[in-house]
Amino acid sequence: MNNYVPHASKLITTHPCFSKAAHNSFGRICLPVARDCNIQCGYCTRKCDCINESGHGLASRILSPTEALERVMSLTAQNHRISVICIAGPGDSLANETTFETLQSIYQQFPNLILCISTNGLMLHDRLEALVKVGVRALTITINAVTLKTAEKIYSRAFYHGKWFEGRAAADIILMKQWQGFLNAIDAGMIVKVNTVLIPEVNDQDITFIAEHAGHLGADAMHIVPLIPQGEFKHIKPPAEKEILKLREQCNRLIPQINYCKECGSNDCGIKVSADGTASPNCNAR
Ligand code: SF4
Repeated sequence: MNNYVPHASKLITTHPCFSKAAHNSFGRICLPVARDCNIQCGYCTRKCDCINESGHGLASRILSPTEALERVMSLTAQNHRISVICIAGPGDSLANETTFETLQSIYQQFPNLILCISTNGLMLHDRLEALVKVGVRALTITINAVTLKTAEKIYSRAFYHGKWFEGRAAADIILMKQWQGFLNAIDAGMIVKVNTVLIPEVNDQDITFIAEHAGHLGADAMHIVPLIPQGEFKHIKPPAEKEILKLREQCNRLIPQINYCKECGSNDCGIKVSADGTASPNCNAR
């Protein structure tokens, strides 16, 4: 087995979610192997894929680890620009053992692909060592709050170490574990992106603090995404595009902002190059 581990800067330039140049040149395959989730976000009904990462209202058919490996074999044979294999749901990647089974078998067969996960962060501190062992080098963590007061409005419960926590206790454990896991991932040398869902009148006051804190601690990028009003937050008007753009501009001095993601939810994989040579990213292959 080839144990080559690319340097972080190389990872960033070939990961379509971390750099604009890579976004137009490389593709990723997203494998829906992680069914369960361990927290409850106010904007999630669990009828679609994890809103934190996909946000498109798509509902993936769950693949077994064997089916996932077969999919990677088949798609990488057809498309040589795929650089990343990602597990982002449809629940939380770290709440499912199938995530680790899948990553391990892909790492053994495709050691040069970048393995990536997205998570709500609750189990990141606990599972970081296991992630490193199965070759994960890139990570997205969704952080929506810095204060307990805000977190309490967003998260109603959390399942941690065999026990459900509710209300303030849930918010407390989610916040604590997110930032702890985030730091551990940076220390482990992973490239780290923070996703933040902008929820008007719920967490607008926290966004620049998240950007400041994440940038200061060493995250590589931040993606501020608009709320999709559903679940408990179905009555909240989503932010206008200009609000998102303004906020990204404000936060860009604190941490590089992702502003090229079209959140396309495409079912294709890799990139498409049209006849005039223009590349259009199709970053999710479900
Ligand atoms: Fe839904 Fe939140 Fe769990 Fe994602 S982390 S599946 S948005 S409850």
